Amino acid sequence: MYAKVIVDIAHSQVDRIFEYSCTDDVKVGCRVKVPFGGRIIDGFVMGISQNASFPAEKIKPVASVYNEPPALVPECFALMERISSRYRVPMAAALRLFVPSEMRLGKVREAYASFVVLKDPAIALPKSAKKQAEILGFLNTCGEYELPALAEKFGRGAVNALAEKGAVVIEKRRKNRNPAGEAGNDGTPKALTPAQAGAIEKIEGSDKTVHLIHGVTGSGKTEIYLNIIAREIARGKTAIFLVPEISLTPQMLAQLRARFKGEAAILHSGLSAGERFDEWWRLRSGEAKIAVGARSAIFAPLENLGAIIIDEEHDSSYISESAPRYSTVDIAEWRAAYNGCKLILGSATPSVESYSKALDGEYDLITLPERINKRPLPEIIIADMRKEVKRGNNTAFSAALREQLKSTLDNGNQAIIFLNRRGYSQTVMCRDCGYVAKCEHCDVTLTYHSEDNCLKCHYCGARYKMLSACPECGGKHIRYSGTGTQRVVADLKELFPSARILRMDNDTVSGKDGHYKILKKFAGREADILVGTQMIAKGHDFPSVTLVGILDADMSLHFADYRSGERTFQLITQVAGRSGRAGSPGKVVLQTYCPENYILRYATAYDYTGFFGNEREIRRATNFPPYSVICRLMVTSEDEKNALAALKEAYVSCEKLKERCPGEFIFLNRMHSPIKRIQGKYRYQVLMRLKSGKLLPEIYDIAVQNSTQSALCYVEENPGNLS
Ligand code: ADP
Ligand code: ZN
Repeated sequence: MYAKVIVDIAHSQVDRIFEYSCTDDVKVGCRVKVPFGGRIIDGFVMGISQNASFPAEKIKPVASVYNEPPALVPECFALMERISSRYRVPMAAALRLFVPSEMRLGKVREAYASFVVLKDPAIALPKSAKKQAEILGFLNTCGEYELPALAEKFGRGAVNALAEKGAVVIEKRRKNRNPAGEAGNDGTPKALTPAQAGAIEKIEGSDKTVHLIHGVTGSGKTEIYLNIIAREIARGKTAIFLVPEISLTPQMLAQLRARFKGEAAILHSGLSAGERFDEWWRLRSGEAKIAVGARSAIFAPLENLGAIIIDEEHDSSYISESAPRYSTVDIAEWRAAYNGCKLILGSATPSVESYSKALDGEYDLITLPERINKRPLPEIIIADMRKEVKRGNNTAFSAALREQLKSTLDNGNQAIIFLNRRGYSQTVMCRDCGYVAKCEHCDVTLTYHSEDNCLKCHYCGARYKMLSACPECGGKHIRYSGTGTQRVVADLKELFPSARILRMDNDTVSGKDGHYKILKKFAGREADILVGTQMIAKGHDFPSVTLVGILDADMSLHFADYRSGERTFQLITQVAGRSGRAGSPGKVVLQTYCPENYILRYATAYDYTGFFGNEREIRRATNFPPYSVICRLMVTSEDEKNALAALKEAYVSCEKLKERCPGEFIFLNRMHSPIKRIQGKYRYQVLMRLKSGKLLPEIYDIAVQNSTQSALCYVEENPGNLS
C-alpha cells in the first residue's frame, strides 16, 4: 500500500504530495513521520492507494505512525482544496489552518499524570490504618484522584500501602490542561422572551442556510445563540461559536462554561501551547462538542456540525490579514453547506454587505428592535467641540462630558471613556523647524508614551529615546499634539482626583491575562472610570455603567476608505451600547467637530435602517462594494527597486487583463500604498475596482507569478484596511 503524504514545510517548492509505502495501520488523515531530504519530518496522509505512481524501488517507507485518531476528518480535505484554489495558497498552507501549530511542530506533547484509582473499596484494613481508611472513604465518593494531591492530603505512605494491598492502583493517564478563567455561577438557561422565542422559531422554520440576526445592543442575542447550541447538542450534533476577540470577553466565556461545562472547548490566542493542544484534541476526540473562539476556530475539527454562529459579524477581525487571506463568513458558508447546517450571523450593526444579502432574500433576516425588558437605549448627547474651542476650552473634555461624569460619579455609577488613540500624544513636532518624529522602519509618526518616557512606533513596536532637542535644527521647543489614552487618564485624574481610573489599550494588556484582569477589576467595581481604545467597545455587559464618553467620534470618519462611514456608525453604536444595560438608564456624550455629519445623525438616533438606506445609495451611485469588488494587489520588499520591478510587471499583466475584459474594470491604477514603508518593507499596490469577482482567480495568478524571493506579491479582496 502507498500513502500520499503532504509534508509540513512552508516552501511552495515542496507543495506536492509525496508517496511512501506503508502498512495498513496508516489511515487517511493520520499524522505520520516520513523521511524527507535526509531528515525525518511530520506529514499528513491525504490518501491511500494500492498502486504507486513511481517505480516502487524509489519509494521509501513511512517511518512511523502517531498513535492517535486521524487528525484530519474528510471535510478538511474538501475544504483544504477549496481554500488552496480559492486563495491560491499551497496545500501545506491550507493544512496549517486545520491543525494547531503546536501539533505540527511536534513541540507540545500530551500531558500525563498519575492517578490513584479505587479497585476494592471493601478490603479489610487493620484498625490502626486510619489514613488508609480515610483514603478509601474519599475515593469512594470520587472514584479516582490525582496522586500528588491525594498524597498531600493523606500521606504518600498510606497511598502506597493501599496500592500494595491491591485496594487501589496507580495509573499514568492523559491529563488535560484546562484553560484558566472561571465559570459564571449561573448556568441555567433564562426563560426566553417572546422576541427571543420568535427569533429561534423563525430560524428553525426557515429553509435558508444563512440567518442574519439584527438585534440592537442588549436585545439578548447571546441567549438565542446559547439556546440554538443547546438544541443542536441535544440532537447529537456539534457547534462552532465565533466571537471577534474571545480573550476580551471573559463574561461570554464564563457564561459558556457555566452552561455547557466540559462540552465547550475554548480556542484563543491567550492560551498556552499545551492548553490549545489539549482543547483541540478534546474537540477532535468528540469529548467536547462546542468550539468557541475567534476567527481561526472556524477550522475546529468537529464532525456533524449542527450550527455555526458568528457574533458581531461585521467585525473586521473576521478577515484574515495574513495568507491565506480568507473571509471567515465564506469558510463558514462552505462548512454549513457541507454539513447541511445553519449559519447564524448576529450584530447590532450588520455589515452593509450582509444586510444587503438579507434584504435581497439570500439570507433569512431576524430583527430584534428592542432591548430586553424594553430597557431604553441610552440617550446620546452631542457635544460640539468647535464651540468648546471658541469658548476657550482646549482640553479633551467638553463641558457636557465633565458635567455628566460628575453626576455619574456622585451617583456611585461607573463610566467608560473611549478614544481611538493609545499613548500620550500622537505627534511630536519641533516648533522651530517643523520636524516630526518618525519611525526609521515605517512611514509613520511616533507616539509619545509618558510612562516609560519614550517614543513608540505603533506599527512595528520600535522604541526611541525621547527628544530633548530637535535632531534637525537643534531647537528646544518640542510640541506634543493629539491626545492619547495616557493623556486622558492624566487629565481625568486632575479633574476628578478621588475617582479610581483604569486604562485598557495595547500598552496595558500585556501578558496572558492582562485584559482579563483589567475587566475583572472594573466589573468588580474596583474602579469608577475605564479609559480605553477599540478594545472596550466590544460586547461587554457591565451593569453599573451609566455613562459612555466618546472623545473623538469623527476620528474614523476622515480615513480615506469607503467603509469609514460604516465603521464610524458601528463604533458609535457599539460603544454607546455599553451604557445603561441594567437598572438605571444610560447616557452617552459624543464629542465631534462635525455634528451635522449624516453618519453621526443616524447613529445618535439609533437609525440603522436609515443609515443603511443612505449608505447603500451612496455605494450604488459610486460603484463601491457590494456593487463592486475592491481588489488590491500588494507588493512589498525590503529593496525598493525590487518592489518597483515586481509592481511594474504585475501592473502590465493587470492592464492586459483589462484590455481583454474592459467591462469588468471600473478602476485600475498603481501607486505607493498610503503607508509607504512598514517594518523596513517598501509597500506598493495595484488598486482595482472590479464589477464582480469574476476575474479574481486571474489576479491571484498574476500575484503568484510576480512573487519573487525578494518581492512578495499578494491579493486582498475588499480589504478591511487600506493603509
Ligand atoms: P446582546 O448580545 O444582544 O447585546 P445580551 O445577550 O448581552 O444582549 O443581553 C443583554 C442583557 O439581557 C444581559 O444582561 C442578559 O443577561 C439579559 N437577558 C438576555 N435574555 C434574557 C431573558 N430571556 N430574560 C432576562 N434577561 C435576559
Ligand atoms: Zn516602525
